Amino acid sequence: MDVYEEKRKKLAENLKYELNLSEKVYKAIAKVPRHLFVPPKYKNEAYIDTPLPIGFGQTISAPHMVAIMCELLELKEGDKVLEIGTGCGYHAAVVAEIVGDEGKVVSVEYISELAEIAKKNLEMLGYKNVKIIVSDGSKGYEPEAPYDKIYVTASAPEIPKPLIDQLKAGGRMVIPVGDVVQYLYIVVKDYSGRIEKKNWGSVRFVPLRGEYGFK
Ligand code: SAH
Repeated sequence: MDVYEEKRKKLAENLKYELNLSEKVYKAIAKVPRHLFVPPKYKNEAYIDTPLPIGFGQTISAPHMVAIMCELLELKEGDKVLEIGTGCGYHAAVVAEIVGDEGKVVSVEYISELAEIAKKNLEMLGYKNVKIIVSDGSKGYEPEAPYDKIYVTASAPEIPKPLIDQLKAGGRMVIPVGDVVQYLYIVVKDYSGRIEKKNWGSVRFVPLRGEYGFK
C-alpha cells in the first residue's frame, strides 16, 4: 500500500464512522484517488477532510460533503445522474463508482479549462461512464434528460426550474441554495410529478453562475 492509499483508507474509515456511511459510499471514497484530482502542490493535503483550491477561484468539495451528497441522493447501480459543476472531476468519479458500468454520469462545467482537466483525470483513471459537457449547467442538460438523480456542487439563488423539469418522476435532487447563508435541499419528485423539498442543513459552496445562477 502506498502512502496515499493508506491515508485514503484512514479518511474513508473515519467518515464511515462519523457519518454512518453505507458500504457503497464508503467503498467509493476508499477507492477514488483524490490526490490525483487536486493540483500537484496540494497532493499531500488530499486526504484531509477539507475543500482545496483547484484554480479559477473554484474548489474541490470536502470528502465528507461528497459522501453526504451521495447518501442523500440514494444512489444505486444503473442510475443516470446529472452533476452540475464538474470542477476537476472528483465527485463525478465517486458517483461513477457507485452507479457502475450500467449507470451514467453526465457532468456539466462552465469553465472549459476545468472541464479539460476533469476529462484528462477521468480518462487516465479509466472512467468510461462519465460524460463531460462544457455549458451553463444552471439550465441542466436537456439532450440527456430525464435523470434519476441530479446534484449541484455550486450554490443557486433558487432551485432552477429546468433542473426540476429534467428530473424523472421518482427521482431525487440535492442542491445548495443561498448566497451568504446557504442550505442544502433534498428535492423529491413523486410519480404524479409533485415536488417535495427538505432542508438538510447549513453548507458552504461556491456560487452557481449562468442564467439561473448569481450574476
Ligand atoms: N464537483 C466538484 C466541485 C466543483 S466546485 C468536485 O468534485 O469537488 C463547483 C463548480 O461549479 C466549479 O468548477 C464552477 O466552475 C462550476 N459552476 C459554477 N456555475 C456553473 C454553471 N452555471 N454551470 C456549470 N458549472 C458551473
